[in-house]
Amino acid sequence: MSEKIRKGRIVNIQRYSVHDGPGIRSTVFMKGCPLKCMWCSNPESQKTEEEVIHRNSLCIQCGSCKEVCETDSITVTDEGVQINRDTCITCGKCAEACYTGTLSMVGSLVTVDDIMDVVKKDSLFYRNSGGGITVGGGEPLVQAEFVRDLLEACHKNGWHTVLDTCGYGSAKKLKMLLEHADLVFYDLKHMDSRKHKKITGVPNGKILKNAELISSLDIPMYVRIPMIPGLNDDKTNIRKTAKFAKKLKNVKQVNLLPYHLGGLGKHNNLDREYPMGDLKAMKDDDVAEAKGIFEKEGFKVEVGG
Ligand code: SF4
Ligand code: SF4
Repeated sequence: MSEKIRKGRIVNIQRYSVHDGPGIRSTVFMKGCPLKCMWCSNPESQKTEEEVIHRNSLCIQCGSCKEVCETDSITVTDEGVQINRDTCITCGKCAEACYTGTLSMVGSLVTVDDIMDVVKKDSLFYRNSGGGITVGGGEPLVQAEFVRDLLEACHKNGWHTVLDTCGYGSAKKLKMLLEHADLVFYDLKHMDSRKHKKITGVPNGKILKNAELISSLDIPMYVRIPMIPGLNDDKTNIRKTAKFAKKLKNVKQVNLLPYHLGGLGKHNNLDREYPMGDLKAMKDDDVAEAKGIFEKEGFKVEVGG
């Protein structure tokens, strides 16, 4: 009997990435995340299932999608299309019928070999630039067995690997992925567990414990802090975050990620309300002050990335 080949659900593979770790990289975005960060700029990666997504700026209101939809889930308006997510069965017929590219399906099932066929095209770039493969999402821990296989396959090819994780998952699964991770990108969103739950949907206990686990294994880590005005950018939280990071022995760099409006359009594309409303971007002075707090603790700090 033939062995069943494991498949993973991905959002996409981004080639020639220069912001997801050292050198030139390919980044694999896994689908599915246990958090629901209010400012999420990749909401299409939150659900584990396949979804239909629309970019209404391309829509010419021809109605072909509506004609083929058997569940009557599509409304065509002057602004483009709207999809009733409660009745949509993600059959994909509308995306097939839309020749303008307004509609597409996100979340294809692939094998590790499928991914390798894409990323190996750039192996020369990885070697010459000190780059490699980054696996993020969504959250890689949601599909831990598949991601383990993927990272292992990258190492077999001699490529550097980055695991980009929010840290919310079992220690056992995390350890499995860390066996093939050369560098970890680790998000710290709030040091107060109650507030963490309010802004991400989950408490932070598991996340802080897993950060200590990675430190104990001495795997290099970049701590990444999304800075969201009014949610986690107050000085008390920044100072507490810096103190916590200081206790970890493996932090090579801190990245401050000031809030931007990138998530707004993507929420619209999924017919979801954007929880941040019309929140403005971070002020440069506030970012500089946070940078100073981390630098005072001895960290190398980058803004963005
Ligand atoms: S989404 Fe595509 S098929 Fe549907 S109305 Fe717009 S252009 Fe036509
Ligand atoms: S994916 Fe299928 S059910 Fe959903 S809106 Fe498109 S055609 Fe209708």
